[in-house]
Amino acid sequence: MITKPKGTSDIYGLEAKKRAYVDEILKNVCESYNYNYVETPVFEASELFHRGVGETTDIVSKETYTFLDRGNRSITLRPEGTAGIVRWFIENKLYGNMTEPVKVYYNSKMYRYERPQAGRYREFTQFGIELLGSDDIFADIDVISLVYNTYLLLGLKGVKLSINTLGDKESRENYKKALVDYLKPNIKLLCSDCQKRFNNNPLRILDCKVDIDSDILKNAPSTYDYLNEESKKRYEKIKDYLDLLDINYEEDFSLVRGLDYYDHLIFEVYADVEGLGGIALGGGGRYNNLVETLGGPSVPAVGFAMGYDRTILAMDNSNVNFDIKDEIDVFIMYVSDTEKETASYLTQDLRLNGFITETDMFGKSLKAQFKTVNRINPKYLVILNDKDLKENIVTVKDNLTKEEEKIKITELTSYLFERI
Ligand code: ATP
Ligand code: MG
Repeated sequence: MITKPKGTSDIYGLEAKKRAYVDEILKNVCESYNYNYVETPVFEASELFHRGVGETTDIVSKETYTFLDRGNRSITLRPEGTAGIVRWFIENKLYGNMTEPVKVYYNSKMYRYERPQAGRYREFTQFGIELLGSDDIFADIDVISLVYNTYLLLGLKGVKLSINTLGDKESRENYKKALVDYLKPNIKLLCSDCQKRFNNNPLRILDCKVDIDSDILKNAPSTYDYLNEESKKRYEKIKDYLDLLDINYEEDFSLVRGLDYYDHLIFEVYADVEGLGGIALGGGGRYNNLVETLGGPSVPAVGFAMGYDRTILAMDNSNVNFDIKDEIDVFIMYVSDTEKETASYLTQDLRLNGFITETDMFGKSLKAQFKTVNRINPKYLVILNDKDLKENIVTVKDNLTKEEEKIKITELTSYLFERI
């Protein structure tokens, strides 16, 4: 038997319906915040992620699906959404003449070669938003407000928003220096990855999952102490707005995020999931240098990505009620060939009028069809018989009250519209 690859899943049945419910909420919230849907390719030139996400990140150094295609081009299945969107933004010269920011969202499959476990897969979905073109803190607020309210609209309680700032370039460089000085005497006590990070990108040591409980990391210098006045002011102003908008957050001065491209505001969203503890549902921040790094002009930007599968896991775990509409409105019952003809056009007619309509497809006896009805529990039955059909009459039965009524076929849709 051929089975699905490790770390992937088939999505069907109730799971598919839950996703449709979540998709609808995400779509609606993005529309009201004026973010437009964008879809970029599943695979891109490998170089995009090397330059965009960063050579030294776990994502690129250990987790990518990279291969040569038949034309000998190095191709990578996208491990995240931002690099592709920035590539799209530059390639289509959307930076020219920017009178409004470009605001987009995606809800797409991502690929990372990770060790599969609960909430961590090799093929997974990320929902994300990007706002390109504005350096105003209103843009940061736009993104955080959408993120925060999305979780509220999904009905997830106990979600924690952590924020921090890396400050501008000067602040970040000062902090990096302080961190390197602090870590130098003890770097041998950290994991081998951290020792590599020490030379390549020391900030990322704070994001290490191996040394997460080490006192060395816990006592590391705080980013806040190395912010210059301007960066500090910007950060404080953002907090004022979060308060104004009743957005609850906590500050975490050791938050750095795993990717290379952030500056100023960064944030993460966590939830407590039974059996998994506190897990990261998503993260984002400002990335003012990425567009330039990928060959465009200097364009400020801010964005967020949500782990879609983990969010559904967290919703499941906190017993969120997925409002799933999968009830069948009408089941049409027939036996004879002439009844079947009427059933076929009535089924089509009701469906085109928006009723979720089903009928028998096995040539079952009436008794067997009633068994089907017991199983799928439609709201109404339409029962056909040759004698009544000669007078263009059908029997409609309310499957809840079990009351029956004979009505004219021409009145069937309006009859059902009044009741469903
Ligand atoms: P983690 O620290 O959990 O590895 P990350 O820093 O690699 O996360 P990001 O690149 O910031 O994750 O992606 C944003 C979100 O996408 C994460 O917070 C998480 O919810 C989700 N995510 C990341 N990797 C996976 C995966 N392999 N399977 C499922 N969801 C994932
Ligand atoms: Mg990861």
